[in-house]
Amino acid sequence: MSLDQPPLDTSPPVADEVRKTTCYMCACRCGINVHLRDGKVKYIEGNRDHPVNRGVLCAKGSAGIMSVHAPSRLRKPLKRTGPRGSGQFEEIEWDEALEIAVSWLKPLHETAPEKLAFFTGRDQSQSFTGWWAQAFGTPNYAAHGGFCSVNMAAAGIYTMGGSFWEFGQPDWERTKLFMLFGVAEDHDSNPIKMGIGRLKARGAKIIAVNPIRSGYNAVADEWVGITPGTDGLFILSLIHVLMKAGKIDLDYLIRYTNAPFLVNCDEASPEWGLFLRDETGAPLVLDRATGKPAPHDGAGVKPDLANGWRHGGTTHKTVFQLMAETYLDPRYAPEAVAERCGVSPERIRHIAGELAL
Ligand code: SF4
Repeated sequence: MSLDQPPLDTSPPVADEVRKTTCYMCACRCGINVHLRDGKVKYIEGNRDHPVNRGVLCAKGSAGIMSVHAPSRLRKPLKRTGPRGSGQFEEIEWDEALEIAVSWLKPLHETAPEKLAFFTGRDQSQSFTGWWAQAFGTPNYAAHGGFCSVNMAAAGIYTMGGSFWEFGQPDWERTKLFMLFGVAEDHDSNPIKMGIGRLKARGAKIIAVNPIRSGYNAVADEWVGITPGTDGLFILSLIHVLMKAGKIDLDYLIRYTNAPFLVNCDEASPEWGLFLRDETGAPLVLDRATGKPAPHDGAGVKPDLANGWRHGGTTHKTVFQLMAETYLDPRYAPEAVAERCGVSPERIRHIAGELAL
């Protein structure tokens, strides 16, 4: 009896063409190889040469094929034919859809264009939809990014001097403590998964703050099951504890943030709440060497964090002074926020201590 097995092709070709592009199922833009046969998408795989994902493809990215093939995909404009909420629609041609849109929009455009509030989802052309809204004459437009990655990018720029994913990367190689706030796991984020893997491989600590313990929170060293909507209050309490303990990196604040900038504190002034600036528009700080305002990035200027400047009857305080006045208030003490946040005072102090290490 022969033990020879019949030859089997365990990897038959699924495609006759491979196109390299990026996944648009979330903001990470992982590199993908899209396999096509007869011009139709058959299969999507991660691109091992792409720097963002190195071949990793999440389930959501794999499901990107359905954005082409799903039976529910819209192929034409839909017009509602039944009462609102009834789910009754019929397909119409683009000419008819455009006529309907013009009949709604033209009277507004001619009378009060700002009454149009315009919101788009995660389209691929938010700059164009914004441009369209401006051309129409309404400032009331928004898109998905304003509720998602744009905030993330702004926070990254203000705290790390750069932003996440396609805009930049956390310092995975040197990070000692990584805190995650409210990350949505449906946002599959291969770069975060790979980065967390690198942190865990070299023993860095991960603290995840999220009402649910799934995904990244499940692999974190510490999970803080916070009450939804109280992340900001929790962070302000951490600031309170760190300020009270004097565990603040003052040199960092001076060098990389606007903490020493002078702010107009005269409520009667038209400049109230704004930075004091010189004639070129540069924000000013109080120079410890001269006791006078000077550009924050001027040569030899030593910004003062703790003292303001009074001139012509107007008081200016540093951003740091205003922060200290606000966040050292007992209303941000761990005992005052614990019940609302669902995090004990001891835990808040413990996490502040981790940050201060
Ligand atoms: S993380 Fe997943 S969904 Fe997001 S771009 Fe990468 S493969 Fe696509």
